[in-house]
Amino acid sequence: MHKSLKNALVGAIEAGGTKFVCAVGTCPQDLDRIEFPSGDSPELVLAQVTDWLGEQQRRRGKLQAIGIGSFGPIDLHRDSPTYGHITSTPKSGWRNTDILGAVRRVFPDIPLAFDTDVNGAALGEFYWGNGEGLHDFIYITIGTGIGGGVMVGGQLLHGLVHSEMGHLRLPRIPGDAFAGVCPFHGDCWEGLCSGPALLARAKMAAEAIPPEHEAWDRETQYIAYAVANLVCVLSPQRVIIGGSVRKGGQLGQDRFFRMVRARVRTALNDYLVSPPLQEDIDRFIVPPLLGDDAGICGAIALAQREIA
Ligand code: ZN
Repeated sequence: MHKSLKNALVGAIEAGGTKFVCAVGTCPQDLDRIEFPSGDSPELVLAQVTDWLGEQQRRRGKLQAIGIGSFGPIDLHRDSPTYGHITSTPKSGWRNTDILGAVRRVFPDIPLAFDTDVNGAALGEFYWGNGEGLHDFIYITIGTGIGGGVMVGGQLLHGLVHSEMGHLRLPRIPGDAFAGVCPFHGDCWEGLCSGPALLARAKMAAEAIPPEHEAWDRETQYIAYAVANLVCVLSPQRVIIGGSVRKGGQLGQDRFFRMVRARVRTALNDYLVSPPLQEDIDRFIVPPLLGDDAGICGAIALAQREIA
């Protein structure tokens, strides 16, 4: 189940809505890395990324592959004319961006792996983190947007397009009049709980929201509804929640996770019977072991798998 990687020298790109993280190395303990703001000009940041990877190649030796984990939605079908493109993103300037093509032009002769940022992060946790030894688990990120990567039977789930669990529709908390911020759906999960949603709801950044503020109640309740739904659909062995919001601002990460876990238990109401959903829920809903590096380590793993 757990295929080992070759530790070859590879490049990695974590293409996020806020920043691009790039790395070159052989494993998480051996990474040279840099970050560039995503901005609203894909041409600019993609040139910065490929220039930097080229410099690292001249310094460290030939890259054997490059892994790219990208925000989306993206086209993952290798026979599609828009394979490797970001497609219908609401992010300004980024719609229909050919990410893979920009990297391919500079690195024409090595394998390139392309997947969602969250599938990449799931893969990073699978090899080096809280997904190790598991064959069915979910990696969720809650930050600029909300997305989820899914490992099913030891394989990343792609299917028709790819998972877009951030746009789940959730039951509304009675009395909550917040309209949500998703440009496509308003009050989908991302519309209610992303970093920008939390900012719009509380009218202050997460770091400034006091622990007793109602926004944290709403935030953790909607996250719990979503996680409970995902548990019912996918029956994961673990749910890993990454991204900036999970740090909980002034609430703190531990308290944030305690609130989410308790509310997932309430939402499921002991209908599903398994120790991870009852007494062991502290080990069932967890932050990433790789922390904020899950995504870039995942992109390293995506590249390594092209060689393995
Ligand atoms: Zn939405």
